[in-house]
Amino acid sequence: MAIDKDAVTVSPREQPPPNNSNDDASYKRDPVSLSGGHSPSTLLRTFLTTTLERIVPLTQAGVDSGAKVFGAAIFDKKQPPAAESGGILREVTVGTNTETASPLLHGEIQTIQQFYGMPKAEGRPDAKDTVFFATHEPCSLCLSGITWGGWDNFFYLFTYEDTRDAFSIPHDIRILEEVFRVPSTCAHETASDLSSRPLYRAHNAFFSSYSCAELLAMIPASDAGRGELVEMWDEGQAGGSFF
Ligand SMILES: [Zn+2]
Repeated sequence: MAIDKDAVTVSPREQPPPNNSNDDASYKRDPVSLSGGHSPSTLLRTFLTTTLERIVPLTQAGVDSGAKVFGAAIFDKKQPPAAESGGILREVTVGTNTETASPLLHGEIQTIQQFYGMPKAEGRPDAKDTVFFATHEPCSLCLSGITWGGWDNFFYLFTYEDTRDAFSIPHDIRILEEVFRVPSTCAHETASDLSSRPLYRAHNAFFSSYSCAELLAMIPASDAGRGELVEMWDEGQAGGSFF
């Protein structure tokens, strides 16, 4: 695939430490500001609709060819959701993993490649002006890909634990534990302290990230559309429509 030459000018977008502190809480940015002003309800509707209507069909074709079930999508932050699209964000590109071609082509990486394969001259937005969604909490490879690609956000449907338990894929957790989890030099750290540490910083100088469950929890019970979102979620999970 030809990659647009403008892509080489992209570098990770680091935010200065807020309040002179680099703890996770001070880096945490809320989904509305991360997405350029869209509500948790609009974001969740966008992600569930896209998963069901766009990623599942693509993924099915991938599974038929021997790949695993992972997909991702990128949306325009700046364009207001159109009524004719059901009030969801404009999709820039959507992709699924093509690991039969290379073990590195996870859904997120494939989608990033598609994004940077779109000519800038033909209207590809900057990564910073887009919202990144992955069906599964990104692995260490994809966390880095999203960071190197210039995104300041990502959202995901299934957690690492879901991936391990429901999809029988333990590699995300195992690689993070084995490669990146460096024991503290502090003698007070117990094995239990080490194993209870988060596997990555969900909020850091480069990005803030949220699960769809966190988005759902932010939508007030009084929100008129909440029930419909919960139904989409439940039907997808119960009926196995998600995968
Ligand atoms: Zn990955």
